[in-house]
Amino acid sequence: MDEAMWLNLYFGSLVVLIGACVGSFLNVVIYRLPTGESVVTPRSHCKCGKPIAWYDNIPVLSWFILRGRCRHCGERFSFRYPLVEAGTALVFLGLWHAGGWPVGLVWIVFAGLMIPAALIDLDTMEIPDRFSIGGFILGMVFSVAVPSIHAVEPSGLLFIDATRGGVAGLLGAFVGSGLVLWVALTAEAILRKEAMGFGDVKLMGAIGAFCGWQGAVFSFFGGAVIGCLLLVLCWPFMKREKDDEGHRIPFGPALAAGAVVYLLFAKPYVSAYFANIQDVLQNF
Ligand SMILES: [Zn+2]
Repeated sequence: MDEAMWLNLYFGSLVVLIGACVGSFLNVVIYRLPTGESVVTPRSHCKCGKPIAWYDNIPVLSWFILRGRCRHCGERFSFRYPLVEAGTALVFLGLWHAGGWPVGLVWIVFAGLMIPAALIDLDTMEIPDRFSIGGFILGMVFSVAVPSIHAVEPSGLLFIDATRGGVAGLLGAFVGSGLVLWVALTAEAILRKEAMGFGDVKLMGAIGAFCGWQGAVFSFFGGAVIGCLLLVLCWPFMKREKDDEGHRIPFGPALAAGAVVYLLFAKPYVSAYFANIQDVLQNF
């Protein structure tokens, strides 16, 4: 192996380790934030009151070593813990691979917001503003500071690049939020009940600011497809509650998944697709 490959391997392993640790922290955020608990104190503990020692709290590994049970009382820990840790690590590695420096790092920050937003929405049917509105603000800051996340070609003038990045981020937020808002209003008019929450509109503001308008459009339609596929796969395992309103299924996880899939796999194809349409229209 040559030097470049070793360097790749080194950074790849580092990103996976950091991702697993961030995933471990995100688990705490996902479980504590909706109840208003602090994410810093107290330390992780079991229902039996015993704190979880550091060697029982190693991301992914500890869950399997302890077979998903508390060392002291045998209480079961959800399989979601190692799943979120391993998932975060893999998503971080994929985004680092797809984006490189510095774009990949911005995408990793974005995924660090989308993963808890999606899972909290799944648990509580609500997306905390700190992820949606906070994500929009952070996305705008990155759009201006790192315009290359919106594929802005360097002009040689930082001010011009920053302005172009900012405009791209703002356009993405407007297109994303607008798309969800219009679909929600239309669906509400037809179904005569709330179809999509305002939380989804705000979440799309964050997605658009980070991913641009092409990413926002993909997140919406691609997310809907991914959401349907997941729903079909998970249907047999879902708890069914018999109530008049039927199942309430949050749309936020689908949007967040669509955005991450866009950055991981779809971006080059979607960009080429829209560039093609633009060409056709211009030469018409
Ligand atoms: Zn216990």
